Amino acid sequence: MSYNIAIDGPAGAGKSTIARRAAEKLHFIYVDTGAMYRAIALFFLKKGISFQDTETMAAECRNAEVSITYQDGEQIVLLNGENVNSLIRTEEVSSMSSKASAVLEVRAHLLDLQRSLAAGENVIMDGRDIGTCVLPKADVKIFLTASTQVRARRRYEELRAKGSEESLECVERKIIERDEADRNRAISPLREAEDAVHVDTSDMTVEEAVDRVLEICQEKMV
Ligand code: C5P
Repeated sequence: MSYNIAIDGPAGAGKSTIARRAAEKLHFIYVDTGAMYRAIALFFLKKGISFQDTETMAAECRNAEVSITYQDGEQIVLLNGENVNSLIRTEEVSSMSSKASAVLEVRAHLLDLQRSLAAGENVIMDGRDIGTCVLPKADVKIFLTASTQVRARRRYEELRAKGSEESLECVERKIIERDEADRNRAISPLREAEDAVHVDTSDMTVEEAVDRVLEICQEKMV
């Protein structure tokens, strides 16, 4: 039987960094579900579908075959067989993924893949609806968050390191918009599961947050 750890939370809470490191320590597979939504968003952008055209997104998503593979422990997202890891971290893809993730057909398209990954392996899976919808019976559920200012600052530093010149105000505005869309959509909104452990990383270093996550996992695993 596989062991499943669900980590949910808003954008920029540090989920992927923390989940990846915790997975390494536990020798679990790390599954970043946001990257799957990003791959579908890239597919829509390449097709020239507009941000508002949810009808075409619903019809077209079945032509986007998303799969996951691992190379040296790193998750590689394949979109119709092509490695798209280096193409899915732009702000344009972030905005499109937020729109696309509100479309029922898009979510249904990815749900089977996410559940089948968790059924076969010990996983730490991160996203917005893992504890509430994808893996409601996960062995451990963690809701990872941080203040809006801290999350915006982290995302801003990340983007700057990649050469972006976007202002902190602009990054913060986009994070707030994305969170609101994720929290208020009708299907699988971002919500803390009742049985999740709440972890606020605003005043924690990455190491401290990883240690806290490992501590919670160890408490629940005994
Ligand atoms: O986590 P990340 O920022 O990469 O996710 C990109 C977008 O994908 C989120 O803003 C959210 O709209 C969507 N998403 C989702 N459900 C998940 C993971 C991501 O709706 N489980």
